Amino acid sequence: MHRVDPDTKVEDEPKFIAFYSKLLGLFSLFCFLCRKGKPKITVNRSGTMAVFTQTCKECGRSFQWRSQPLVLGKYPAGNILLSFGILMAGASVSRVLLVLKHMGLAVFSLRTYFLHQKKFLFPVVLHYWEEYRGKLLDQLKGIPGAVWSGDGRFDSMGHSAKYGTYTMFSCDLMKIVHFDILQVSSILVICIPHLNPALAKMIYSLLLIW
Ligand SMILES: [Zn+2]
Repeated sequence: MHRVDPDTKVEDEPKFIAFYSKLLGLFSLFCFLCRKGKPKITVNRSGTMAVFTQTCKECGRSFQWRSQPLVLGKYPAGNILLSFGILMAGASVSRVLLVLKHMGLAVFSLRTYFLHQKKFLFPVVLHYWEEYRGKLLDQLKGIPGAVWSGDGRFDSMGHSAKYGTYTMFSCDLMKIVHFDILQVSSILVICIPHLNPALAKMIYSLLLIW
């Protein structure tokens, strides 16, 4: 395995699957504070993180060890990273959690995953997209006569006739620069010949952020 720098970010450092018996064997050896005796071990977990506590009769102190670093002061990094991985892969969360349960791996609940999505993942994805889009728009400001393509679709990808997805594509950058989900009935009729009213509204919303 290649060398890992001490300042490597938690998301980049390697992770392993550790068995209960192997960890218990390690923590049963001696008290990690006074290096004597046979400490009493209690094991707890928080989602995918194990928490081992040694209670020592010799020195009367207890030593606690967590199998994961904490992020934002209290959240086990492995729990957040597992939710992140599932979302980024576009995988079915219930299937992934079932796979892990089948092999006996400690995991969090479906409810926790949706909490992670709402609290951490969606805000981060939105922030990244807005920054990325800002950079694309800055690039486009330097291109005179920028050429755009746009399209809208509804009543597909979920069969909703109420909402439509509208996309603006920059032919200069060869990238999607803006998209929006709009309620079809709220779209204004803009009288430009051969221009889809929904698309016209989309162009208007693009101009607002530009
Ligand atoms: Zn001790």
